Amino acid sequence: MPAHFTDAELLAYLDEGLPVERMTAIETALRSSDELRTRTAELRDQRESQGHTVGEIWRRERLSCPTRHQLGSYLLGALEANLAQYIVFHLETVGCRYCAANLDDLRQAGQSNAAETTKRRQKFFQSSAGHVSKPRRGS
Ligand SMILES: [Zn+2]
Repeated sequence: MPAHFTDAELLAYLDEGLPVERMTAIETALRSSDELRTRTAELRDQRESQGHTVGEIWRRERLSCPTRHQLGSYLLGALEANLAQYIVFHLETVGCRYCAANLDDLRQAGQSNAAETTKRRQKFFQSSAGHVSKPRRGS
């Protein structure tokens, strides 16, 4: 039995948008499975006729990585649905590590104000606790 691939993965394969090992796995499966080849061809045809799938947007507009600004808007939930969908696809299906790191960075930057307050509180709490549990530090 051929391995299972999701429709999204097969479409990403057509766009050469998967991590290398996944591309290879799909290629191998395609070579040995008529059924998978047929399914992939059908997916491609469906996509051609719909015109609004993420793969189509990607192909037509030659998007690869979203901009940092787009990732920021995505975090805020301020993107139009198609683009947000594309970013999810790019991050989760394509598995772009560059964008994942960028997104983490943005997420941390967004939280830094809140985090600073928390950190200050924690520091206060820790130093108080430290003071109590370590009486040897006389001052
Ligand atoms: Zn990316």
